[in-house]
Amino acid sequence: MTILQIALDVPLPRLFDYRLMGESQGSLIGRLVKVPFGHGVKFGVVINEAATSDHPEAKLKSAELIDGLPALPADWLALCQFCARYYHYPLGQVMAFAMPPLLRKGKTPRALKPKVGAGETAPTFNAATPDQTAAIDAILGATGFQTFLLHGVTGSGKTEVYLRAIEAVLERGGQALMLVPEIALTPQLESRVSARFPGAHIVSAHSGVADAARARAFLAALEGRAAIVLGTRLSVFMPMPALQLIVVDEEHDASFKQQDGLRYSARDVAIFRARQRDIPIVLGSATPSLETFHHSSSGRYQRLELPLRAVAAAMPTVTTVDTRKQKLQDGLSAEMLAAISERLQSGEQSLIFLNRRGYAPVLACPSCGWISHCRRCAANLVLHLADRRLRCHHCGLEVMIPHACPGCGNLDLQPFGRGTQRLEASLVERFPAARILRIDRDSASSPQKWQALLATIHAGGADILVGTQMLAKGHDFPKLTLVGVVGADAALFAADFRAPERLFAQLMQVGGRSGRAHLPGAVLIQTEYPDHPLYRALVDHNYTAFANEQLAERQAAGFPPFAFQALLRAEAPELAQALEFLATAVAAAEALGAPDIMLYDPVPMRLARLKNRERAQLLVESKSRPALHAFLAGWMARLYALKTSRDLRWHLDVDPLEF
Ligand code: ADP
Ligand code: ZN
Ligand code: ZN
Repeated sequence: MTILQIALDVPLPRLFDYRLMGESQGSLIGRLVKVPFGHGVKFGVVINEAATSDHPEAKLKSAELIDGLPALPADWLALCQFCARYYHYPLGQVMAFAMPPLLRKGKTPRALKPKVGAGETAPTFNAATPDQTAAIDAILGATGFQTFLLHGVTGSGKTEVYLRAIEAVLERGGQALMLVPEIALTPQLESRVSARFPGAHIVSAHSGVADAARARAFLAALEGRAAIVLGTRLSVFMPMPALQLIVVDEEHDASFKQQDGLRYSARDVAIFRARQRDIPIVLGSATPSLETFHHSSSGRYQRLELPLRAVAAAMPTVTTVDTRKQKLQDGLSAEMLAAISERLQSGEQSLIFLNRRGYAPVLACPSCGWISHCRRCAANLVLHLADRRLRCHHCGLEVMIPHACPGCGNLDLQPFGRGTQRLEASLVERFPAARILRIDRDSASSPQKWQALLATIHAGGADILVGTQMLAKGHDFPKLTLVGVVGADAALFAADFRAPERLFAQLMQVGGRSGRAHLPGAVLIQTEYPDHPLYRALVDHNYTAFANEQLAERQAAGFPPFAFQALLRAEAPELAQALEFLATAVAAAEALGAPDIMLYDPVPMRLARLKNRERAQLLVESKSRPALHAFLAGWMARLYALKTSRDLRWHLDVDPLEF
């Protein structure tokens, strides 16, 4: 009798044995099956075939093979197994996550006539610059696994390098995978890729793709029909039998890390995948993550530099405005106001960047000290004057703005601080003739609204843009020559050791929006700390100086990439329950004995209460990644075996980005 060991979508780190109904022809590994489980049925993937089972064979239930989905290839199974091991997450849950929901339930989408590229746009070829040529030659010269960092500012021609490398792969009959951050997957990029490869079958995969299309894309990739997969983090799991090249654009972007369920980093999984397939991988960025930059300095990754913009255009001049020396008007300095005026007169565009949406971060009562708290979270309610609401940015709770103080009845409640709406209102007052457009998650609350806003900007329908980081990424605004940065100082002193890295990347990216070939750009940064090394590095366009300084600090403090971390988080209705679970986990760790592992004390999370659940965490750290993972494997086995209260939930976050 054949026993099938099956990975099922249940939160247990083990496989389940079933009998096969009837005889099997050939190997069933990688096949989808339907099995009785508990009182219902579940779908799962066959991981192993065995002759015997540890369970009494007579008691084993039967599995039914699902036709219609070809066996998942061995390298795809190995990829899921790697994720299960590395992220200490049940294999069946990894697979359920990695497969499109339709296929996972044994359904196949109706086939569509393949839409072979329109074919009307002829690809355009520019001669590659010498730096681009060197990069392309290095990538195409790789004989097997090699990680490249393609380091170049926005507009330096990185995408052009990816496209040429992809072109060579397609000529050899290979498949290419290109991962991009969530927000960058704009129609512009899709059309640029399809215009370049008019005959190629390209599938795009992101959260906006409907179930049936997602299933079709998966099948097209699996059957080798799709030549290019262009997608956000989830597409790292696309099965691609002829995969020959992986590109991760904006590799530093936080959206590559999933923050719930399987907490994977698509960039790191992509690197594993390239190693597994023995193929090159290109990580591209203007501001590489410090981990990646560190590896490119140590020689583990090969660094390729594109130091200049591809089309003759100077970098914008970056200047700081010392706000300690003057009285601001509605948060804006005299220099900033003058610079905006100049742009208005010359018919150019300005962008004022403030990474805080809403009108004001809090509403307060000056007479009794009441402030607008969320009743479900340890956070303030943000004032949204445009729709007369107070809103929690963590849990979404909304309440009407009280007309009087709930504490003392005072009618004079005051907004404190400044968000994009308030900045917009001030600009409207100061520049009544200007067309002002606010871009943040409130004004661009759907993809349609976002596209409409972009269309307005491209049609020249805005003189001043006010916005959050939504504006920073991947859009060309031809007449934009001024980027003003306000309210950025707070991130200099945030408790999270990665905050400066993020701020630098953000400001570099948003600053890069400014200026074109014939219109030189300027960036003005309002700050109380004009001599801060982060701002100095921005003024000098010197990412490398910033990165090296940060890496020296990280090394001195023993932070990543000089240490490896995992976070165990627990949440429960009462903080004591969460802390108690973590204390049990510490005891389990100590019982295991782990000499090279550092266990910190369990502490409440920074946002300790979210949606009425109290949250705490425990940091585990080691100088050695293998030591950390050996420890985590043993530790997780014990934690999964613990009986915990139904109220309590916990998870492990390996290589956490947020604390
Ligand atoms: P990045 O991805 O680094 O932002 P792109 O590849 O998008 O840069 O290039 C920026 C602009 O320069 C694009 O308009 C692109 O068409 C153009 N470009 C890139 N490489 C060349 C080249 N070798 N010759 C002329 N124009 C180029
Ligand atoms: Zn009051
Ligand atoms: Zn809340």
